[in-house]
Amino acid sequence: MSFAEIIGQDQVLSLFKNTIQNKRLAHAYIFAGQEGIGKMKFAKELAKKIFCQSGKIDDACDICSICKRIVTDNFADLFFLLPEKNHRVIKLEQLRHLQEILYVKPVESKHKIVIIEDADKMNEEASNCLLKTLEEPPLYAIILLIVTSLESVSETIKSRCQIVRFSPLSVKVVKKILTEQFQLDNNLAEQLAFISSGSLRRATMLMDANALEKKHWLARKLLEINRMDNLTFSKEVFNEWNIQDFDVLEEKRLHVKELFFLFLMFYRDMLICKTGGTNFLLYYDNWKDSLIARSKSFSEKMLFNILDIIKTSLKHLDYNANINLLIENMITEILCVQSNHKHFVMGQS
Ligand SMILES: [Zn+2]
Repeated sequence: MSFAEIIGQDQVLSLFKNTIQNKRLAHAYIFAGQEGIGKMKFAKELAKKIFCQSGKIDDACDICSICKRIVTDNFADLFFLLPEKNHRVIKLEQLRHLQEILYVKPVESKHKIVIIEDADKMNEEASNCLLKTLEEPPLYAIILLIVTSLESVSETIKSRCQIVRFSPLSVKVVKKILTEQFQLDNNLAEQLAFISSGSLRRATMLMDANALEKKHWLARKLLEINRMDNLTFSKEVFNEWNIQDFDVLEEKRLHVKELFFLFLMFYRDMLICKTGGTNFLLYYDNWKDSLIARSKSFSEKMLFNILDIIKTSLKHLDYNANINLLIENMITEILCVQSNHKHFVMGQS
């Protein structure tokens, strides 16, 4: 692995190649962009390039002792920090520990690099502690903050860092990786690449979770539902997604995010069918005719309401510990909008 294997982030790559050549590395960077597009991988490759002993101009050598030790996470001047298992946020103690580490001079090189994953997930105390470190970093320190949401990072922290934006990967790139590195057939790779919105992590997760079958299952169900059978439907959803079986809350959360996303795309597609938008690709393309037929029993306003319900649930997902209840509530509210609408239509006729 080296810069040569970073795919789909050409701008970022050339930015850093120039920066390194001109010896203008800053003390702190924020790598921002959606999940699963290679921010972490790039951060690690950047560290490798900075530490590499070979003197190669453009890239790390991948064969010197330091390059090899970085690959096996066994190099004393490179640190990683991320939320502890089953915790949503990085804690103050972790930041304090990091400060202590940073103030000890590097052992084997001119720099000490810290990569903080999920740096947008910090409480206020931790964030203040990080700010102090960013205000007076030791000369040898380079701090890389990896975030999915820039809005969750305080302005004062942002003002101390150079912000580097990573773009979503194109469908073509994701498809290429899925066929070449995961040996998927062309058709499946293309579908997964399309539904993963440019995130390789999502694409591979969907691949493992039989996402396409689940997607079709959900479409069939959502087209059928016509009564207020919210609890039965919720139970079926729990079963189909094995939601009860997850021990680790964080894994469950990611999994449920995909589920919500499927709901969101279903009603988005229905809205597109309703308004006759011809320029949009449908996520549920195979179901187009059924969606068009079904969309006749919805008003645009109802569909916007449902989309709002799903978006709100998605927001709560990051904070709400009771995932089952969140799903149940979302389904109840959606079906409630549908059934109110039916009464409304019947009342008119
Ligand atoms: Zn090397």
